[in-house]
Amino acid sequence: MNVKIDQDGCIECGACEQTCSEVFVVESGQKASIVEKYRKNTSDVGEIPDILVSCTNDAVASCPVQVISTG
Ligand code: SF4
Repeated sequence: MNVKIDQDGCIECGACEQTCSEVFVVESGQKASIVEKYRKNTSDVGEIPDILVSCTNDAVASCPVQVISTG
């Protein structure tokens, strides 16, 4: 599954990392990113293995500004 973070809209709340730290990282003072392991070319786009789809979907639901999308 592909996942994308619209980093311009991210408010750096940390909810995605708290919900699914296997996929998301929110460094202090920075927008959310995909962890390096699953990152594609840029830090806002990733490809997630099946075992982490549920966790990723929970993180999507946790984002208060709905800037994480999957496909
Ligand atoms: S949950 Fe959404 S707003 Fe919060 S850090 Fe993650 S992507 Fe940004």
